[in-house]
Amino acid sequence: MTAHQPTLFEGSKRLVYDEAIEMTLQSMQAYGPAHEHWGIAWSGGKDSSATLTLILHLLETGRLAPPKSLTIFYADTRQELPPLAIAAAAIMQQLSARGIRCEVVRAPLDKRFLVYILGRGVPPPNNNTLRWCTRQIKVDPMTQALAERLDELAGNILMITGVRQGESAVRDGRIAMSCGKDGAECGQGWYQQMLPQSKGIRGRIATLAPILHWRVCNVWDWLRIYAPMREYGGWATAAIADAYGGDEATEINARTGCIGCPLASKEKALETVLATPDWAYLAPLRGLKPLYRELREPRHRLRKSGVELLKDGSIAANPQRMGPLTFAARLMGLERVLSIQGECNAAAARLGRPSIDLLNAEEEARIRQLIAAETWPDGWDGGEPTADTPMDTVFADGSVQPLFL
Ligand code: SF4
Repeated sequence: MTAHQPTLFEGSKRLVYDEAIEMTLQSMQAYGPAHEHWGIAWSGGKDSSATLTLILHLLETGRLAPPKSLTIFYADTRQELPPLAIAAAAIMQQLSARGIRCEVVRAPLDKRFLVYILGRGVPPPNNNTLRWCTRQIKVDPMTQALAERLDELAGNILMITGVRQGESAVRDGRIAMSCGKDGAECGQGWYQQMLPQSKGIRGRIATLAPILHWRVCNVWDWLRIYAPMREYGGWATAAIADAYGGDEATEINARTGCIGCPLASKEKALETVLATPDWAYLAPLRGLKPLYRELREPRHRLRKSGVELLKDGSIAANPQRMGPLTFAARLMGLERVLSIQGECNAAAARLGRPSIDLLNAEEEARIRQLIAAETWPDGWDGGEPTADTPMDTVFADGSVQPLFL
């Protein structure tokens, strides 16, 4: 007869938590009760999904005293990796079945990533000069949603985030809230740092990162082993870990963000997804990153021809700066995105797999409308030359070096 082995399936009394989860529980027990209302900022990525499902489990099993209200804010950039977006949809169904309030937070139509680029003509972001995306598609919509929720509530809210820095960083006090560092989710650090200071909600929210100390292996264990078990909530989180590479996930410390993120050096997360036979049909998505790079090239953009006088009468610091996308470039970009989407969805239909939604009909119509209305970003009127036009060089002090000496 084999000796009886205690298992995780023997009732809530026997639930086991490792040290990392115990520390999370302690930090929630310490800070949670001071706030009547809680919110959870959830992006659908691995860290915030682990945070979300763990907090709900701790509430459901009575390890944490429930707040007066709990609101989940799902940050939907419309640029999520399809397997993560699909997993998030499954978890949202579970939330709704349990009567848990979940708000889908999106940027307004004109400010969404692709509408802003292809409709308004603002070039894709890059690391050096123009980094408008995280704030615009993640932080600002979250601030807005929180402000609206706070209007309905009396008192303050504790915003729980999935920021994770790993054990050693926590121990050494090296807490850098940079965006997307060390396999973290883009935007999470910003929530932690910027939300409490944002206009409209300043002074009314506190943030807490209860898995700050978790290592990535803690995240995978929770998503793949514990959370899917009935005793720990039966959450549909395994698909999230799978999206990061199934059995290989433990080794892969993937950064999560938008598909084709122009700021990431490599498309690690997308490549991992495509390496899974089930998701290989999404290979055309590889075309997005080069498209964003191409759209930043001078031939697709306008340029100020000389020193620029700003609205307040001062002179712009960077004469001859490159600016927005030409209409031809925007239409080219639109056709390419639609054809990438079309290819993926044709394969999806053939294989009986989920289709993707890079650009929906409303977004496409809005892009076409903005182009037809000849929309330019502030400070541009379309009369500027394209950036590949040969021209004299104008320096910041107004001196000019003619093109041909
Ligand atoms: S993942 Fe990349 S494109 Fe998306 S918001 Fe973050 S930095 Fe911008």
